[in-house]
Amino acid sequence: MTSPERPARPEPAGRRVQRAPRAEVVVDLAAIRDNVATLRRIVGPAQLMTVVKADGYGHGMVEVARAARDAGAQWLGVAVAEEALALRAAGDTGPLLCWLAVPGEDYAPLVEAGVDVTAYTVEELDEVVAAARGLGTPARVQLKIDTGLSRGGSPRELWPALVQAAVRAEAGGALRVTGVWSHLACADEPEHPANAEQEQAFREACEVATAAGLAPEVRHLANSAAALLRPSARFDLVRCGIASYGLSPAPDVVGPAELGLVPAMTVQGRLALVKQIPAGAGVSYGHTYRAATPETVGVVPLGYGDGVPRHASGRAEVLVGGRRRPVRGRICMDQFVVGVDDDVRTGDPVVLFGRGDDGAPTAQDWAEACGTISYEIVTRVGGRARRRHVDGRSAE
Ligand SMILES: *Cc1c(COP(=O)(O)O)cnc(C)c1O
Repeated sequence: MTSPERPARPEPAGRRVQRAPRAEVVVDLAAIRDNVATLRRIVGPAQLMTVVKADGYGHGMVEVARAARDAGAQWLGVAVAEEALALRAAGDTGPLLCWLAVPGEDYAPLVEAGVDVTAYTVEELDEVVAAARGLGTPARVQLKIDTGLSRGGSPRELWPALVQAAVRAEAGGALRVTGVWSHLACADEPEHPANAEQEQAFREACEVATAAGLAPEVRHLANSAAALLRPSARFDLVRCGIASYGLSPAPDVVGPAELGLVPAMTVQGRLALVKQIPAGAGVSYGHTYRAATPETVGVVPLGYGDGVPRHASGRAEVLVGGRRRPVRGRICMDQFVVGVDDDVRTGDPVVLFGRGDDGAPTAQDWAEACGTISYEIVTRVGGRARRRHVDGRSAE
């Protein structure tokens, strides 16, 4: 070994080389469409809502929404008003539900845009009614009951009063109750007794609504896990987020391949530097890793400033040159270090996670490496990494 650095492979002479970017998030919209079509087949005759909140779990909200509609998703779901309005601004005109507001929320643009809003309380319903009256347009409202998650939704004791207020507002022409819904706490644990309890409470809540004279278009309870693992929870509509992106909602129970789902996101880049370090050298902040022998390391130009979790320090793996390579030491804000071999050169491609069928880790692997769920891995990644949408693998 003459030099500790391993320079980039020489570029072919006389030709401008198309350089791969430093770091990018590649999202395969064909995978999203295939996943949505697969989910539709599984859950039918129930309708499918593709949940595209939080920038489509990091995949790009507008692009994912279009792909989902193309593949037959009847509904889209988002958390907050800005997300719903951004979808309308991008041209989406189909059924669209949002479910998280604070007092003083400006409901008028949502009502005007034909977005279904969610009411948990009579106070929220009153605010929606006021917006609808101001516009002269009836609002589309879905009522949410808390059947046991103890998060959003009407407490069970207050449900009859919420239903009555909605009946009155509907009779007055200010709104139409389009849905009744709830959310499960333990759907990723199919044997958990909370699932049956919540489902029973939801059936009772639906009966209260129907008995009071409401005729919602859709009753819905299931997220991805329940949609896939608990047919009795499908009702008229299921709300699938994570499964649409090709990740398992219940990785302890079933993997994406068994479900026929394909991870849509690949995070990749190029090694900024490959070099040798001597025996005994400490690696990255705090020297939490120390080389026992002379080692070759590669610098990955992504860090927690790009959403790569620092909790994966010393635990996750990446793919370089067809092989898994361990993260060495702490993940920094802009970069981290991996252990490689002498066959690896500066500039070589590195894949943090992807589809999982080419040896690269998956978002689920990264989640396990840092004690979280795949949802958090894909949703947080981005930062300075460029996001690029492709349509099918060959387009990569
Ligand atoms: C995010 C969310 C979903 C989607 O959950 P997945 O587990 O990703 O399928 C469904 N319903 C509600 C209310 C949500 O907040």
